[in-house]
Amino acid sequence: MARIGIITCSNCTQESHCASVVCLGDLRKRKGFFEKYAPEEPLGLIGIISCAGCPTLAAPEKILKRVRAVAEFKIDALHLSFCMTAVCPFIHKYVEVIKDTFPQLDIVMGTHKPVEKRLFQKGMKELLCQTISLPQTMNDMIKGTIKIPE
Ligand code: SF4
Ligand code: SF4
Repeated sequence: MARIGIITCSNCTQESHCASVVCLGDLRKRKGFFEKYAPEEPLGLIGIISCAGCPTLAAPEKILKRVRAVAEFKIDALHLSFCMTAVCPFIHKYVEVIKDTFPQLDIVMGTHKPVEKRLFQKGMKELLCQTISLPQTMNDMIKGTIKIPE
């Protein structure tokens, strides 16, 4: 069994209330970045956790405590969520520090089938800034009902 951990962007999961349903859906269906596993190999989701929030330029190692929370349960692969790959300015530094500390981990740069990153970024801007009157959540973006200003 491939033992999998997932780390997500806090801006998407905590601030925008994403329950990671698309990540988990593609894991179940073995789509997106879960296609890479051999069809006969069962996939075990060992843990899923959000990042520790903005590390500032000074402390990218801040993410390690979140990685450790799942890595201590003998995962083979750590998937960085699609949203991290789309919006996180720290992602390359994160990969560097994670590789240094957990060299045995297969770090996978994505989870669900990618959507167009520029559109996702526009949607995130709307979710985080809420420039229209009705509050919106990640579910509005997932269901395609988010109103993204031109
Ligand atoms: S942008 Fe990066 S550091 Fe900020 S919440 Fe998202 S994953 Fe974490
Ligand atoms: S990658 Fe998509 S479904 Fe997964 S946590 Fe991020 S926004 Fe949610």
